[in-house]
Amino acid sequence: MMMKESGAGQKKESVPVLYTDRRTCCGCTACLEACPAGAISMKRDREGFLYPVIREDSCIRCGLCERVCAFKADQREKHTSCKADRFEEPLVYAVRHRDLDVRMASRSGGIFTALTDEWLAAGGVIYGCVLDEHFQAYHMRAESAADRDRMRGSKYIQSDLGDIFRNVREDLKSGREVLFSGTSCQVAGLRRFLNGNPENLFCVDIVCHGVPSPAAWKKYLQWQEEKRGLKAVSVDFRNKRDFGWKDHVESIYFSDGSRTDSTVFKNLFYGHWILRPSCFSCPYKDVMHPGDITIADYWGIDKAAPGFSDNKGVSLVLVNTPEGDAMFRKVSDALDFRETDLALSMQPPLQAPFPEPADRYRFWNEFYSKPFGYLARKYGTESAAVRLKKKYRSIRKKIAGRLKR
Ligand SMILES: Cc1cc2nc3c(=O)[nH]c(=O)nc-3n(C[C@H](O)[C@H](O)[C@H](O)COP(=O)(O)OP(=O)(O)OC[C@H]3O[C@@H](n4cnc5c(N)ncnc54)[C@H](O)[C@@H]3O)c2cc1C
Repeated sequence: MMMKESGAGQKKESVPVLYTDRRTCCGCTACLEACPAGAISMKRDREGFLYPVIREDSCIRCGLCERVCAFKADQREKHTSCKADRFEEPLVYAVRHRDLDVRMASRSGGIFTALTDEWLAAGGVIYGCVLDEHFQAYHMRAESAADRDRMRGSKYIQSDLGDIFRNVREDLKSGREVLFSGTSCQVAGLRRFLNGNPENLFCVDIVCHGVPSPAAWKKYLQWQEEKRGLKAVSVDFRNKRDFGWKDHVESIYFSDGSRTDSTVFKNLFYGHWILRPSCFSCPYKDVMHPGDITIADYWGIDKAAPGFSDNKGVSLVLVNTPEGDAMFRKVSDALDFRETDLALSMQPPLQAPFPEPADRYRFWNEFYSKPFGYLARKYGTESAAVRLKKKYRSIRKKIAGRLKR
């Protein structure tokens, strides 16, 4: 903590500095929840991301908020949030849930449903990410399959954790078995907030490209609604039913039963303009993760397990701890799976963070000074190179199909 002279000449500690660079705060809420004086709240910045703010008059200068920060600790020294008994290298599986309906309702191969079905059957509690009535993401607690089902599907925006960490602690204290799912920074934040690894906590984290801005999503959705002159009634960040697992098209459903399919938000996401700044220095873009089990889309499946994918979704499952291994074995009857090679499963977010776009600052200035249609045209279209690559792939597929016949 920094020291500051007080007016009367004696030294008085200043309030802790939680971050000076937005790249060092992932917004996990651990500092807020740990503060014994309730002096911290979360405020949105102009990009719509939540950051902790300390009320100087309430702060008791204990410094706990700084010490509980997993993100900075893991930036300084890798893997401080991983369990001590983790495997040196994860066990790797390609997984499909045996029930096709489950798979179609899930983002990839449905491993999350298999794990949580088992957890619910044993009387446990689940925490995960859902959408609210405005299609913004937040974390909630579930004790039923119906509530858990709302957690299925990837919401490509940062979720608001609210006071979830406190709820998890209360559940753990009362002896409930808790399964917490979220991004790796959320799982790391929770583990550090709990100051240990309670036996009744099981964590599932997702391999994460980065979390997009809720403000960008809100403006995008408004733009789509205004173009239609209709209210959205549901959204699918990645419409797997109509476009297959490998493609990435977002679909918005309107009040008159119509639908818009678009790739604008996806292109803003993959162009990285709308990612949280901390994603550019994320210590969890790595093989080792803080979850007992880490889940992802199995990109590279055709090399890792040829013939296993039917384009309806395959999960990549990284089992990181003995507890993860025991759980995976328990649910394996619900799954078709193959053990695979880590070296063939190394998608970019398992290797390093993406670089921050050089024009990110300009994007955000234009975000507030230009209509969304301008942003969609300038930043939200696929580059010529990507279009060319897609066309080449589809021609190759057609030729291969003809040769087979
Ligand atoms: C922001 C984001 C980035 C992603 N980036 C990648 C990537 O780079 N590579 C890759 O292979 N896969 C990525 N995924 C997809 C992720 O791997 C899948 O959610 C995972 O494979 C789950 O598959 P499932 O079939 O078990 O699905 P589902 O049943 O669909 O699983 C849903 C799970 O995702 C969680 N979840 C959904 N949205 C969020 C959110 N906004 N914040 C926190 N948790 C959320 C839910 O709590 C639940 O645990 C990303 C997902 C998100 C939300």
